[in-house]
Amino acid sequence: MRRVRWFILSAFVGLFNAMPAEAGTLQSWQFDRSQNRLEFITDEAVQPRAQLLPNPTRIVIDLPNTTLERSLITEPIGGQIRNLRIGQFDRTTTRLVVELAPGFTLDPQQVKVSPISLNHWVVELAEVQPLPTAPTTGPTTGPTTSPTTAPTPTVTAATRITGLRETPDGIFIRTSGALPEVDLFQSLDRTAIELDIPNAAIDPELATQTFTAPNLGLAQIVFSQVQANPPLARIRLELEPDAPGWQASVSNLGGIVLLPQRQPVAIQPRPTAQPQPTLAPTPQTPAQVQAVTLDVQGNQLLIQTDRPLNFQGQYRGQEYQVILTPAQLAPNVQGPDLPANSPLSRVRLRQEDPQTVVILLEPAPSVGVDFPQAVNERLISLQLQGSSPIAVPPPSANVTPPPTFDPGPVQLPTVPQGQIVVVIDPGHGGPDPGAIGIGGIQEKNIVLPISLDVAAVLAQQGIQVVLTRQDDRDVGLEPRVQLAEQVDATIFVSIHANAISLSRPDVNGVETYYYSSRAGLALAQSIHQSLLQNLPTRDRQVREARFYVLRRTSMPSALVEVGFVTGVEDAPRLADANYRRQVALAIAQGILRYLQ
Ligand code: ZN
Repeated sequence: MRRVRWFILSAFVGLFNAMPAEAGTLQSWQFDRSQNRLEFITDEAVQPRAQLLPNPTRIVIDLPNTTLERSLITEPIGGQIRNLRIGQFDRTTTRLVVELAPGFTLDPQQVKVSPISLNHWVVELAEVQPLPTAPTTGPTTGPTTSPTTAPTPTVTAATRITGLRETPDGIFIRTSGALPEVDLFQSLDRTAIELDIPNAAIDPELATQTFTAPNLGLAQIVFSQVQANPPLARIRLELEPDAPGWQASVSNLGGIVLLPQRQPVAIQPRPTAQPQPTLAPTPQTPAQVQAVTLDVQGNQLLIQTDRPLNFQGQYRGQEYQVILTPAQLAPNVQGPDLPANSPLSRVRLRQEDPQTVVILLEPAPSVGVDFPQAVNERLISLQLQGSSPIAVPPPSANVTPPPTFDPGPVQLPTVPQGQIVVVIDPGHGGPDPGAIGIGGIQEKNIVLPISLDVAAVLAQQGIQVVLTRQDDRDVGLEPRVQLAEQVDATIFVSIHANAISLSRPDVNGVETYYYSSRAGLALAQSIHQSLLQNLPTRDRQVREARFYVLRRTSMPSALVEVGFVTGVEDAPRLADANYRRQVALAIAQGILRYLQ
């Protein structure tokens, strides 16, 4: 569940006075509807970051060190693309959002972000596909046959925004129907905050009124229906000078809670009569918080407990708080060791009272923290950025576009969601290149992109994926196993490439290993079968071996050797990015089949 997307995370007077010296400006942009192609130009060199977000599907492109000298812009596009929105994500980042129409999605691997020059980029969306939908009974909501002349257009939408109420702490916006999704934008000059709510309709009488709450620093609150079809509602908060920033959250009971930031940290004792949104039944005794770790990938914070508990996340000023009740810190629990480029600047754990543990996170600039989610009864995860990253080449790179990936006839089976954690372990890394083969190709550089693609495909299927490394770094065997144990992985899959001798180019093919357990054998067989079905490779059998990562993991585990870097057939294939993506898809398919 991802209900609120933070487009602005830092709004603190005095902290961001100095703009970077080389800040650029977004000069122009254009969306070519016939080709599903976005082009944009900045006045300085820029290295965009891109990601795909679900519900509704959005491609989000961030331009670091770039500003937009205008307030939020929404351009309706039409067809499979709902709109293009351009706003300021934080003081130094401009964000472009291409939102697809409801019911459409696309494969992040097919989104191509390529430089034309250092300050001119093209985003090609490739094929927009209909989302596989659950069969609906009766006609779908809102055939909307008469777009031409409806005197009072009634908007059909999943969510209705029906009212507003001032609370002691902030503002409560009442909704009915589906829980809203909220995109929060803040104007660069911090005079306004806009909440965009896709698939939502504003009650007509709300749209005709203006509201004010001067004691909260709100000069005006304006509701507007930006678009009727597809519906897009907007709530604009106009701030008084020096007013604090605001945070939005969606109540599980329906409605949007808006709270000013920079309030003193105060955790209200929970009144018994007023049910708060809870995500787990209240257990009798406090849960022990046993570990708080950052996954090796660096974009998930994992909170491990010994039993279910209630949890809640919220921004307080520049910090993000996770409140756990009833909970106690286990002895000697410390926060994670943060690497140099960590998305978190600081993590602190605090026993707030005998029943309450608070985990305080300081995100690095322009890092978003998503709502905490239960991976299983004893593991809570927080995403620290977006989802599905979209690869963006550096602007200095060769401008020839990489070959597009045709997933071909591979059908991905579906699996039950929610409880599954898959650990993907790309072999070697850093100073350990693994096997070196024909033309000097290195195992570590082959298995990393395959692993990242496997992770992306599984994540698209709603599976929680943890990678033991996501870049070229050295990770010991023991930490790889420890990570899998720590996250209570459902399965562990290690990905390697094989080698024999450069004098044996005749040896080619895939091998898949397991150790001793029947479940490990089944997993290895499922992956191996999928590789053989989907790739033109030789069968070198499923084998048993005493590899450390197989012996020491307690969950079903397998190790795939995707081919021989010394093989005359395998080496050129493994050097080809397109082939590696097919390997990844086949491994993912084998994993999904096993999990079914
Ligand atoms: Zn290896």
